[in-house]
Amino acid sequence: MSQTDIASPFSSSGPRLMELSPQNLYDKCVALARNLWWSWHPEVINLFRELDPIRWRQLDHNPIALLAEFTPERLEARAAELVLYSRINQAYRLLKEYLAHQATWSKVHAGVLGSNPVVYFSAEFGIHESVPIYSGGLGVLSGDHIKSASGLGIPLMAVGLFYKQGYFKQQLDIDGYQHEEYILSRVENLPIESAVGADGKEIIVRIETRTGALLAKVWKMMVGRINLSLLDCDVDGNSPEDRELTSRLYGGDTRVRIRQELVLGVGGVKAIRAMGIHPGVYHLNEGHSSFAALEAVRGRMDEDGLPFDDAVREVARQSVFTTHTPVPAGHDRFDSALIEEHLGPLRDSLGISHDQLMGLGRVEPHNHGEPFCMTVLGLKLSRRANAVSALHGHVSRRMWKNLWSWKVEEDVPIGHITNGVHVPSWLAWQMQQLYDRIFPDKWFSRMGEPEIWQKIYEVDPGELWETHYALKNLLLQFVRRRTSRQCRRRGESDAAVDMARNVLDPNILTIGFARRFATYKRADLLLSDLDRLLAMIGDPDRPIQIIFAGKAHPADDPGKGLIRKIANLRHDERLAGRIVFVEDYDINVCRHLIQGVDVWLNNPRRPLEASGTSGQKVVLNGGLNCSILDGWWAEAYDGQNGFAIGSGQSHSNDDITNARDAESLYRVLEEEVVPLFYDRDSDGLPHQWIRRMINSIGSLAWRFSSHRMVMDYARNCYVPAAGGVSCDMSHR
Ligand SMILES: *Cc1c(COP(=O)(O)O)cnc(C)c1O
Repeated sequence: MSQTDIASPFSSSGPRLMELSPQNLYDKCVALARNLWWSWHPEVINLFRELDPIRWRQLDHNPIALLAEFTPERLEARAAELVLYSRINQAYRLLKEYLAHQATWSKVHAGVLGSNPVVYFSAEFGIHESVPIYSGGLGVLSGDHIKSASGLGIPLMAVGLFYKQGYFKQQLDIDGYQHEEYILSRVENLPIESAVGADGKEIIVRIETRTGALLAKVWKMMVGRINLSLLDCDVDGNSPEDRELTSRLYGGDTRVRIRQELVLGVGGVKAIRAMGIHPGVYHLNEGHSSFAALEAVRGRMDEDGLPFDDAVREVARQSVFTTHTPVPAGHDRFDSALIEEHLGPLRDSLGISHDQLMGLGRVEPHNHGEPFCMTVLGLKLSRRANAVSALHGHVSRRMWKNLWSWKVEEDVPIGHITNGVHVPSWLAWQMQQLYDRIFPDKWFSRMGEPEIWQKIYEVDPGELWETHYALKNLLLQFVRRRTSRQCRRRGESDAAVDMARNVLDPNILTIGFARRFATYKRADLLLSDLDRLLAMIGDPDRPIQIIFAGKAHPADDPGKGLIRKIANLRHDERLAGRIVFVEDYDINVCRHLIQGVDVWLNNPRRPLEASGTSGQKVVLNGGLNCSILDGWWAEAYDGQNGFAIGSGQSHSNDDITNARDAESLYRVLEEEVVPLFYDRDSDGLPHQWIRRMINSIGSLAWRFSSHRMVMDYARNCYVPAAGGVSCDMSHR
């Protein structure tokens, strides 16, 4: 929409004074802050930032906390000083228009969903750094899923847990040890309110167990058009211990875990029911929420008088299950006693025996030695199941083939829908402005379509490079600010702080590596041959520099060891200022990194990375992926749109795989990445490199967008599950 389309009633002086009272202005800002729609609209983010740039940063980019520091009068004065009236007004109008907009993709392609929404369950949602209810990739994926569902107009609501302390904040001490700090969120600073039921009262759900009932309150958060309901056990009536149940992500032992999953699944379905919603489709994102299917079965038995078997069939027909874990040990499993304690009362109302219930979570129903697996339950109670990349589909069919022992492996009914990322959330606005100039009008509503992105082949290479270079400089400023602050906090010398303030050089090839520090991701693969690495870093003509970030799970000592090993490299003088570790990886750190790096490095042990999404965020901003052919990259790499480490093989012996992959990694950096980056023409531009940037954007951005992903879910899963025309998901 162009500026002139908007007839602002505040453009003449008369009505401005009358209609935009300080309170009115303040209310509009609060309305903007209370729908997370703002988090993917740079023009609104800039508005908030300009109100007070320093506090904005200090408050984790939280507009509600920021506005709480203003009175309406002070806000008005600030708006007057910066001439913000029309921008506030325009942003408010855009939000209203967005919420009212009817002609969406879904109206045309998923009309059958009608008034029976998809209910999307996930244990975490990563929407913005100011809403700390996520830990990493799974949460960010869920956040991106609901943002795209909003954009496409899919009738969908989401269910998760409200973690008052979220995931930990990471600090490293002077020896490189990770310390974890949990910060209590202030509810009044979050964009949530109590959800109310059909009777207009606050919803409290009650979940019976053999050892007493668990209560949970329901919060509501708006993410564009999507209602995200979050269950919270911190309520009167729960024991002090149970009040803490949902305070942290992935915190406790297996008993805490099953209780959290009981609240998410069973509590989630009860919450939806209390809101008067009749789901058309249940989407269980990962096994954490599989208990939802059991509560849904009970609902069908109650409401429609169906016998158990028929109710199971009906719920399965409506259900979609997505698995994310290629490692057998990574799937939640509970022993028989924990299941009986927590599912006993529900099983009574289903009229089934303990053995029957256990059988639903076992590959071999009568194998008493087999624990109850949440993934098995999810697979058995959903007609449609999918993995999150093509390769992960193969791995998952192999892993679960015994559930369909009468089928050959390739007929195991687990397909795949490859993950994608929400373009507006991860695209730098400088890059967006470049795209706005060359892409068709309103391309934002069609970002999952290949035609839109073909225009990138017409971009002026110099302009693309300039934009990337500007973003890289912003990244380096961010890293310097962070690392010098880290040094100061640890009480290091002035010289060290000074050095941190000057690390990295914008003209040097910059490699980013940021992810959870799980050992299979091999953050130290690049250090396998330190001399070879030193030679690259210290090369006088064609050096490299590396930025690391990532948290290790609090219980993962080997992961913490890797962090220490990398963080302590900064004491090695030969690396002077060329390797940095940025603490406290979160959505904010991720956004800076993926918008500014030249190369994004990803070297997991194949095939353990189900998909990975950070590299997809890099694509949007013109960075190049250099990755093992695992997860999404195995299907994305075409020889011209980035770099591959190895040829997609792995050996059954991990040491041999590690050695081979390290060799391939060094070779691709030395022989392909570095030479291409420093191959400059007389105009100083690396034309072959820029060509790859363009190939990467043109061939990958649409395919690995969450718009494409959600359209695939809608067409292949939601519409058929809701009883529309089926186009079954094919994995061949
Ligand atoms: C995108 C993102 C991830 C997922 O990236 P991977 O490629 O799976 O490592 C993890 N954490 C944060 C904070 C992210 O933004």
